[in-house]
Amino acid sequence: MLTNPLTNPLTKNIRGPENVATDIARYEDNGGYRGWRKALQLAPEEIVKRVQDGGLRGRGGAGFNTGLKWSFVPRGEDSPSVKYVVCNADEMEPGTFKDRLLMERDPHLLIEGMAIAAYAIEARTAYIFIRGEYALAAARLELAIAEAKEAGLLGSNILGGDFSLEVHLHRSAGNYICGEETALLNALEGRRAIPRAKPPFPQVSGLWGKPTVVNNVETFCNVPHLIEMGADWYRGLGRGEDAGSKLFGVSGKVKNPGTWELPMGTPIREIIEEHAGGMQDGLKLKGFLPGGGSTDFLGPQHLDLPMDYDAISKAGSRMGTGTIIVLDDHTCPVGLVLNLTQFFARESCGWCTPCRDGLPWVVKILQRIENGEGLPEDLDLLREQAARMGPGNTFCALAPGAAEPIQSALKLFEQDFIDHITKGCCPYL
Ligand code: NAD
Repeated sequence: MLTNPLTNPLTKNIRGPENVATDIARYEDNGGYRGWRKALQLAPEEIVKRVQDGGLRGRGGAGFNTGLKWSFVPRGEDSPSVKYVVCNADEMEPGTFKDRLLMERDPHLLIEGMAIAAYAIEARTAYIFIRGEYALAAARLELAIAEAKEAGLLGSNILGGDFSLEVHLHRSAGNYICGEETALLNALEGRRAIPRAKPPFPQVSGLWGKPTVVNNVETFCNVPHLIEMGADWYRGLGRGEDAGSKLFGVSGKVKNPGTWELPMGTPIREIIEEHAGGMQDGLKLKGFLPGGGSTDFLGPQHLDLPMDYDAISKAGSRMGTGTIIVLDDHTCPVGLVLNLTQFFARESCGWCTPCRDGLPWVVKILQRIENGEGLPEDLDLLREQAARMGPGNTFCALAPGAAEPIQSALKLFEQDFIDHITKGCCPYL
C-alpha cells in the first residue's frame, strides 16, 4: 500500500497490518478532520460547487458526478427542513472488497466525509447502512462515531457553532438488493427491500419522503481532502480524463491479489501486471471483468485501456467498482458465469419478472451446458434471455448487470460454450 498523503489521500493513514487511524487522536495527528473544520468555515453551496468542480464521480459503480447529485437537493426557505445523508456501505458486488478496507482501517475518514456532505446539503441526520457481515468495520465505526461526538465534531452545536449532526449505524439483514439505493432506503424504513421507481430520485424524495443524498463509502472518503486541498489539486490526482485517485482491486489467479490506491486512469495492464504481480506461473490471462461481477468481460486486447469511466464504457464494459476479476486460461468461463448468475438469481428481490424468473432460467441453461448436457440451441436461448433482462425491461440494475457477463462471455468465449455442447462435458475438468 502506497502512503504518500499528496498522492494517496484515501490510504495515507493505512500502513501495513497496523490499524493506524482507528483512534481519533492518531487520525487528527495525521491531519484528520481538517477538511471538516475548513468546510464549517465555507457556505454549504461553496462545498457543493467545490465537489462538483473537483469532478468526483460516484465510486459505488455508476460514476455519477457527486457534486451534481448534491446540487439536486432542494435548498431555501420553501425546501423541506428535514434532509438526510445516507452512506451505502452494503458492499456486496462480487469481487469487490474496497469499502471494507476503508471502514475497518480508517473509519474517521468516512465519518468526516459524511459530515461535510451533511453540512453541504443542510442535513441534520446521517445513516451508515452497512453490510451485515462487516462486523469489524461496524464495531470500529461505532467507536469512531462515539469518539467524534465526544470531541465535539459530531452531535449538537459542532465545535461551538450552529450546525448539529447525528450519525447512526444500521446493520443490514443481508441481501445484495439492499445496495440498490432505493431498496436500501426501504430497508432503512423497515420495509421490504425492493427498489422504488426513479424519478423521483432520492435527492428530492428519499428516506421517509425527504431529500436524501445516498453515496458510497469510497465516495465520501474522497471528500475531506478535496475540500481541504481544493478542486484543482483533486483533479490533478487523475492520470487521464477522470479526477482523483481510486481504490482498484484484483482477484483471480494472479500472484498478488489485493487493493491499491492509484490514480484514476491507471492502465489496466499496470494494475494487473505490476500491482497484482501478473498471472500465476503457467497461466495466461484469458479475459477480465473490469469492475465487479456485473460488468462485461473484456479481453487481453483491452489491457492498455486506462481505468476511466468513459474509456471502459467505450470499450463495451463499465468501470463499475474498479475491482477487476481476472479469468485465466485454465478456468472454465462457463463455470465462472454460472457461479455469478447463481449469485444474482439468489439475490433477486423477486419484484419484477425478468429478474425473478429470468435469472433462475439462465442458471438452469448454464448448468446444463457446464454439465455437458447443453443443446446447440441453448446459446441463442441464453442470448435471447439475457436481452430480456436488459436495461429498460426491469425495475433496477440488478438483472441488466447480471446479463452483462453472460452476454459478453457468449461473444468473447463462444467457442468454450460450443465445446461444452459438442464434447458433452466441461473441457476444463
Ligand atoms: P444509476 O446510474 O441509476 O444511479 C447512480 C446514482 O446517480 C444514483 O445515486 C442516482 O440517484 C443518481 N442519478 C442517476 N441519474 C440521475 C438523474 N437523472 N437525476 C438525479 N440523480 C441521478 O445507478 P444505480 O442503479 O444507482 O447503481 C448501479 C451501479 O451500482 C452499477 O454500476 C454497479 O456496478 C454498482 N453496484 C455496486 C455494488 C457494490 O457493492 N458497490 C453492488 C451492486 C451494484
